[in-house]
Amino acid sequence: MKPIVVLYQDLPEKLYKKLADFADIKQFKTLSLDSNDFRSTLANASGLLGAGGNIDENFINQAPHLKAVSTVSVGYDNVDVNALTKRNIKLMHTPTVLTDTVADTMMGLVLAVARRIPELADNIKQGLWIKGITPDWYGTDVHHKTMGIIGMGRIGKALAQRAHFGFNMNILYHSRTEYTEVNDKFTAKHCTLETLLQQSDFVCITLPLTPETHHLMGQKQFSMMKPDAYLINAGRGAVVDELALIHALEQKEIAGAGLDVFEKEPLSSSSPLLTMKNVVAVPHIGSATKETRYAMAECAVDNLIAALSDHIKENCVNF
Ligand code: NAP
Repeated sequence: MKPIVVLYQDLPEKLYKKLADFADIKQFKTLSLDSNDFRSTLANASGLLGAGGNIDENFINQAPHLKAVSTVSVGYDNVDVNALTKRNIKLMHTPTVLTDTVADTMMGLVLAVARRIPELADNIKQGLWIKGITPDWYGTDVHHKTMGIIGMGRIGKALAQRAHFGFNMNILYHSRTEYTEVNDKFTAKHCTLETLLQQSDFVCITLPLTPETHHLMGQKQFSMMKPDAYLINAGRGAVVDELALIHALEQKEIAGAGLDVFEKEPLSSSSPLLTMKNVVAVPHIGSATKETRYAMAECAVDNLIAALSDHIKENCVNF
């Protein structure tokens, strides 16, 4: 008999068929324990595949036969990993396939906010480009500036590659580990968070959300940044204390921000961040290209099949 898999996101047809050859798929729009149908399906499921949702101990307790959770993401801050591990349930994720795309998004945010691209593009649409531009429309150079990367993992390294080789930027980084190959390849310097904040023109966050990184950037940290520096966040929203960020922007403690992630998503349309011209906010599009989202879905399907057949070779978080 095929294992039952709860699918809670759409899959491209080819990948759906691949999974359906292996498993009996029960598809739902979201992970909602409020629905009787969902609860009774979960009670018999061996696998789970989708992105987001809150997979906590209570949720896991409702799934006595669960063997594997396959998240279509690299981050898994929405999952209680300890609770899964206690039950010997494998957590699979999709690192690597999205690294370059997220690094591209971050470089895009750096350029967008420093060169004021969305703001000035909007000025044209509003008919404000009447003659030659004046200095109040000037942006800030990116090339040859200093980029401070908080979190030198897969995405941090891909960002350093772009910044160093593409834009001749100096690279500082803060992470738990110092990487000699990063130091050598990008002429990068490992430093304390304080030094990074004091010296960087672009402070870029590529951290996961954990109890240690929650609100790592708060009022004190913003006050250490240069007033002409920018914050770029594509890690997780809650690594930044959003109220402290809004305060720092209002008080002109920093020059602006490029944000892909927010404490609460979707970001409320009444957020003060959306009224600030020096903020470029995008709706969590870090990995959102056709090619990369397909590769992530394919990786997640392969991960789940591998985990449910006890043939895991890679991408397992907890075993
Ligand atoms: P990764 O390879 O695991 O890198 C994470 C980095 O963060 C590592 O360098 C790690 O240090 C560092 N780190 C973790 N905790 C730290 C702490 N307390 N203090 C300092 N450094 C710490 O992960 P990745 O693939 O680069 O992805 C990073 C994160 O990006 C994901 O977890 C996810 O939240 C986010 N993300 C966002 C999007 C998006 O669409 N915006 C897409 C993909 C990923 P060590 O090197 O010492 O381990």
